[in-house]
Amino acid sequence: MAKITLDNLAHSYYPKPKDEDDFALKELNHDWADGEAYALLGSSGCGKSTLLNIISGLLHPSQGRILFDGIDVTHASTADRNIAQVFQFPVVYDTMTVRNNLAFPLKNRGADPKYIAERVQQIGQMIGMEAELDKRASGLTADAKQKISLGRGMVREDVNALLFDEPLTVIDPHMKWELRTQLKSLHHEFGHTMIYVTHDQTEALTFADKVVVMYDGRVVQIGTPQELFERPQHTFVGYFIGSPGMNVISADITGKVANLHGTSLALNRGYNDLNGKVEIGVRPEFVALTKSDGLPVNVRRVEDVGRHKIVRADLFGNEINILAREGMEISPDMNRVTFDPEHVNVYVNDWLKAGEVA
Ligand code: ADP
Ligand code: MG
Repeated sequence: MAKITLDNLAHSYYPKPKDEDDFALKELNHDWADGEAYALLGSSGCGKSTLLNIISGLLHPSQGRILFDGIDVTHASTADRNIAQVFQFPVVYDTMTVRNNLAFPLKNRGADPKYIAERVQQIGQMIGMEAELDKRASGLTADAKQKISLGRGMVREDVNALLFDEPLTVIDPHMKWELRTQLKSLHHEFGHTMIYVTHDQTEALTFADKVVVMYDGRVVQIGTPQELFERPQHTFVGYFIGSPGMNVISADITGKVANLHGTSLALNRGYNDLNGKVEIGVRPEFVALTKSDGLPVNVRRVEDVGRHKIVRADLFGNEINILAREGMEISPDMNRVTFDPEHVNVYVNDWLKAGEVA
């Protein structure tokens, strides 16, 4: 296992990139700690696979270096990097049995046959395919083949890192949860450095110790699920994580007062000389619907989603979402909202501003 360092890394698929827009991956400096489980989260096309393939060695970056435990592997092959990678779609040897597919990476490295037999049995059980170990892969469903791919990715215990690129896309929904749980327990057992790419926030938040959020070729935040929830560093993190996501409202801010369409709102921290697009961000969890305090809203719709209600309202012409307790009565005279000041974040050109506490 290894600590992975990305040093000044960037990638463009164009031979002569002209400007930043030509880069699928914008400059990045980061250490991926040894033995940690990371999720790489972002919408389609933001550069997740590009980054993963650079780490595994399938792709050579147009700029910068990759180090494993301080050793430069930028030009080393995937095999030399000693990495296991699982892709979105199954990669299996159709003419081989499930057992031989699973055994392949171990045989390839000359492992002891007795060990191989035991380990393959164990992995077969983890992916729920013990009963099918002697079947040929060719007759199996896409779902089963993907489980074999996952199994093959997990079979070696001596890899530097395990990389997964949206591996559960073709898997049956009820099996997804099961396999994710298996991956997590594998991580607890062996402590591999794991990087799991997904566009699904639930998958990311349940799998990872740390979530790396990407947007438009850039890493916008690396944090624990709680950090991403409480202090989104970028408005994209606010929108993308949470359901519904963070409310973002344009404002003028002077000192500790935000002005929203002529109505003032007291802030917990002070901000001076903000230039650019200024907005406040507040999650629906920290907005309260009231009868007499706060900013005026028109309630459009109330959705009962089990443990709570989502109130969709209009605030100065923008949609705002409010989370209310399930048992709370929403009466027609509730047409104001208050924000929990501790949880109002301020953004300038989409990036969080810390503000001054004094
Ligand atoms: P993700 O995995 O997050 O969906 P990708 O890393 O696949 O994103 O793609 C990032 C960007 O790079 C996208 O704009 C995509 O169109 C572009 N891209 C990906 N692969 C190639 C390629 N082989 N050649 C040219 N452009 C590519
Ligand atoms: Mg991808």
